Amino acid sequence: MASKRDYYVILEVDKDASEDQIKQSFRSLARKYHPDKNPNDSEAETKFKEIQEAYAILSNPEERRKYDVFGHERPGGSPFGSRGFQGVDISFDDLFGGGFDSIFSQFFGGQQGDRTRGSDLLVRHSVPFQASMDGLEDEIEIEALKCCDSCNGSGSAKDGGSRQCPSCDGRGRIDEISMIGPFRQRVRKDCAPCRGSGRLISDPCPDCGGDGRALQTNRVKFSIMPGITSGNRLRMRGQGEASTSLNGSPGDLFIEIDVEPHPWFERDGSDLLMALPLNFADLTLGTTIEIPHIDSDALRITVPPGSNPGETISIPGRGLPYSNRRARRGSVTVVLRLQSPNKHSRKLKKKIEEIRVELENHTPPVEERIRDEAKSRRGL
Ligand SMILES: [Zn+2]
Ligand SMILES: [Zn+2]
Repeated sequence: MASKRDYYVILEVDKDASEDQIKQSFRSLARKYHPDKNPNDSEAETKFKEIQEAYAILSNPEERRKYDVFGHERPGGSPFGSRGFQGVDISFDDLFGGGFDSIFSQFFGGQQGDRTRGSDLLVRHSVPFQASMDGLEDEIEIEALKCCDSCNGSGSAKDGGSRQCPSCDGRGRIDEISMIGPFRQRVRKDCAPCRGSGRLISDPCPDCGGDGRALQTNRVKFSIMPGITSGNRLRMRGQGEASTSLNGSPGDLFIEIDVEPHPWFERDGSDLLMALPLNFADLTLGTTIEIPHIDSDALRITVPPGSNPGETISIPGRGLPYSNRRARRGSVTVVLRLQSPNKHSRKLKKKIEEIRVELENHTPPVEERIRDEAKSRRGL
């Protein structure tokens, strides 16, 4: 492995850069090297991870101080554990808002106390198959514990219906000091008896029983991108459960998408697979079939003369959009099947009999046919 680059150099900031400068620089570099903007670019991917690691350290005052003293050779090994920094999944949206703050603050024993974060929620949501072609603007209704409207989250029935918490002297926070090597590590936690509010409630709110949270039904809107696959999860920041602590941030809402099956297509990533049952004459003489398709242009399938059941026809560019490169689309693969009529009139039966006699005159004897088939099957 090449020697590790300096975190300040990576983030293109001075040694005495302010927290804000570091954040600004991280944000603009992360946008530049984000995988969504650089698909299949492993160099950008490596850079993106390197920027993240540098930011994880320099955005954390304790870790930054240790880095300033020891550089990469700090005692006790990598602050990220024996496997080193693994990278985190930051969406492009997060880089515009402040969504990445909470991700990095959770690295080192929770400076901002991620224990006080509200619970994440997961809901499953079905969308029609067409959404994987066109994308979809959709919404769901969810019931979750949110900040209680009656008491504005205070938990108290009336203003002033509370007294100062003796455990934390009204500060709402408790600092725990521990020694890590030569460093005093201060971990700040929300005070448990008062839920971080600094106050104890003498007259609890009747609607939430003093919890400060109540069940609420909300509509959540979201966009589904073309190319979506069953099992994909959308993350809606801050739309999860409210925190039990007054100062805690809400959890996230995850929406797991289930794409409903198509009447005839099976899906393999962005490729589509279908079977086309044809009669003997269509296979033998060839035919052209047109069927309605997901892109609203008819799908034209040209079956060449002399086709056999099990053979496939590939139609490139008519499958689903790639989820990362929307301009490109997968292919449609059509497997030919033979469908014999299960009912036929006497007239039709007679005609088929005639064809059989005619065919027998034009095909080699059965033993030879079996031998030829085996040869071609074995690739000889
Ligand atoms: Zn309430
Ligand atoms: Zn307290």
